[in-house]
Amino acid sequence: MQIIILGSGSPLPDAERAGPATLVRTGIGDLLFDCGRGVLMRAAAAASGAGALRALFLTHLHSDHTTDLNDIITSRWVMSFQPNPLAVFGPPGTTGLVRATEAMLELDIGYRLAHHADLRWRPSAEVGEAEHGAVLEEGAVRVTAAPTDHAPVRPTVGYRIEEGEASVVIAGDTVPCAGLDELCAGADVLVHTVVRRDLIEPIGLPRLTDVLDYHSSLEDAAQTAARNGVSTLVLTHLVPAPQPGSEDDWVARAKEHFSGTVVLARDLLSLDVAP
Ligand SMILES: [Zn+2]
Repeated sequence: MQIIILGSGSPLPDAERAGPATLVRTGIGDLLFDCGRGVLMRAAAAASGAGALRALFLTHLHSDHTTDLNDIITSRWVMSFQPNPLAVFGPPGTTGLVRATEAMLELDIGYRLAHHADLRWRPSAEVGEAEHGAVLEEGAVRVTAAPTDHAPVRPTVGYRIEEGEASVVIAGDTVPCAGLDELCAGADVLVHTVVRRDLIEPIGLPRLTDVLDYHSSLEDAAQTAARNGVSTLVLTHLVPAPQPGSEDDWVARAKEHFSGTVVLARDLLSLDVAP
């Protein structure tokens, strides 16, 4: 199993960091977790793409995690030569988002159907909504969801992906919580959204400090990893984006609370996952 960080950024547009998205490459195909800004540009760089996805998993329906859903739906449709429904898993509400996105694309769907004689089907998506338990089991791969805490955004989920003995957890946006602990128990890699409380608080801007309420700080994420016996912690969805030269400081602060390996994500970082 391999993890490729497609987007290590946040809602704040950044020249170097695409929006939240993580690719997990497995024996049954590429599994994509969230689809933030620029996801298909980064997927192309990783030799993946909308048509190659075995499934898309959404942790929650915040716009920065779903902005490019429409791009995935359209690109998969127009670049396939036979009907190729997209499998989408997410918390309750995901069906509504997918159907609304398809409705938003209605004019474009009409244009393309009228223009391409060999395109005789509409884009389609099969949506599975789940908050807790197995969401996909195929071959040696098993994906499990558990509820997280990103209130007032509800419901939200994290995922654990297992292939054989190897395991990866995608936390999504959450504060420390029992559901995340359940997913993380003994995991090889935890990919965790983080914010820097020490950098955001002094700015004193309510629109920014509000962000602290419902995300894990760097220290929170490190403590979650330590409490659950995780081997490697990957810090992503970095708020604020690290200043060049400050990367070692981010890692050192996490290491004060966690003795395993700490990796600060950048776009297209790849990690092989071994138990
Ligand atoms: Zn969020």
